[in-house]
Amino acid sequence: MLQAPGVERPQKNRSAVKRVLVVEDNPLNMKLFSAMLAAEGYGVLQAVDAPSGVEIARGSLPDLIVMDVNLPGMSGLDATQALKADSATQEIPIIVTTAYSKQYADEIKASGCDAFMAKPIGVSQFLEEIEKLLRRRVAAAAYVT
Ligand code: MN
Repeated sequence: MLQAPGVERPQKNRSAVKRVLVVEDNPLNMKLFSAMLAAEGYGVLQAVDAPSGVEIARGSLPDLIVMDVNLPGMSGLDATQALKADSATQEIPIIVTTAYSKQYADEIKASGCDAFMAKPIGVSQFLEEIEKLLRRRVAAAAYVT
């Protein structure tokens, strides 16, 4: 199809709005994460359980995922492992969050997640971690192109 003059062709644009998928079953935490991310200019995708989180990750390929551990049915750590085992999604940085960090310490390490943050989340620490992981990803992608 011909493109009208002045209409931009869709392209991979690193300066475009970064999209963060939040997988979280607690409505208050979901609201909090989403508000923090939106206030920083991120696009927010939401999933309230692990299977829909995996599905949205595969379908939308977000720039980063914030993953809760305790979710109804499938654990967020199992979802993390599944996404890290899939070549289509393994490059997406995943930050695992839980209030039960001691209980899950070994599983969190084994999940292959890129970062871990204990709840309650500190706003500036949370946003810094996200920026750090997004920068690292851009740097890694530069070698591939
Ligand atoms: Mn939860």
